[in-house]
Amino acid sequence: MELLDGKKCAESLVADISRKVAGYIGSGLRKPHMTIILVGTHAPSESYVKSKIASCGRAGFEGNLIRLPETVTEQELLAKISGINNDPSTDGVIVQLPLPSHINEQNVINAIAPEKDIDGFHPTNFGRMALGQKAFRPATAYGICKLLQFYDIPIRGKHCVVIGRSNIVGKPISIMLANDFDIGNATVTLTHIETPRELLLDETRRADIVIVAVGIPGFVSEDMVKEGVVLIDVGINRLENGKLVGDVDFAAVAPKCSWITPVPGGVGRMTVAALMINTLMAYENNFNLN
Ligand code: NAP
Repeated sequence: MELLDGKKCAESLVADISRKVAGYIGSGLRKPHMTIILVGTHAPSESYVKSKIASCGRAGFEGNLIRLPETVTEQELLAKISGINNDPSTDGVIVQLPLPSHINEQNVINAIAPEKDIDGFHPTNFGRMALGQKAFRPATAYGICKLLQFYDIPIRGKHCVVIGRSNIVGKPISIMLANDFDIGNATVTLTHIETPRELLLDETRRADIVIVAVGIPGFVSEDMVKEGVVLIDVGINRLENGKLVGDVDFAAVAPKCSWITPVPGGVGRMTVAALMINTLMAYENNFNLN
């Protein structure tokens, strides 16, 4: 068993980005600029935002955080996004999810200008990605692809099972791996809460690659996978004792895997790296550097 080390891969990708950025700045351009909007003080969001801002520093980007109170109205938030959409000094914007329940998340995602949508959640980018066109690809799914590519994991022709169909992880990764992309051409099965248990087991037990994003600690057990499987654990779950774990029973399952992502230090790090790649793309689009 070998680890798919998200920290190592992300550091390598960010180092490449920072070299490119240094070249752009050397030629007189401003830094790439990411803006993050954080509503309220949700503890996991605070930690995700902190790591995104830190990564901006390492990549040579300007990263700025706009904090809005939990009580902000949807209209006020949309007005803030509109201001950023029209501000040429910002290349990419993230509205950290989840939002308070009085705000409609899809309205907020739809309000972000597609050319600044570095999370890749806007219907325009999602649609373009699904059609195989140039797009900001949803960051976690894109990060998983980059991690598989970094470790030369064969994808083409492999049988891949995705567990969980969220718009931000399960759905996009299943489309991306099935598409005729550079990192794709797998045969993909997308499973979800309505997938009968026996069918889920049939699928996962013959899968070459399993990607799990359900948010349930220990969901993938040793008896669910075959010897030599590649296992991507997207889950981030905080146990009562404060420990951070994924959706895989790591101690029991890891010995059976050829490759597995750790939690922490796996997909989470890659999500942030993918955001950096998307921000650089937004910047290069702005300055016609492509
Ligand atoms: P989500 O929106 O809650 O979606 C979970 C998905 O799992 C849903 O599609 C749900 O099915 C499915 N599901 C739930 N129970 C299931 C079961 N028993 N069998 C099969 N499918 C089941 O979650 P998410 O946003 O995708 O996040 C999932 C996990 O990944 C969470 O732990 C989250 O914190 C983590 N995450 C990590 C990163 C990262 O960067 N590492 C990024 C995003 C999310 P239904 O659609 O039918 O409800």
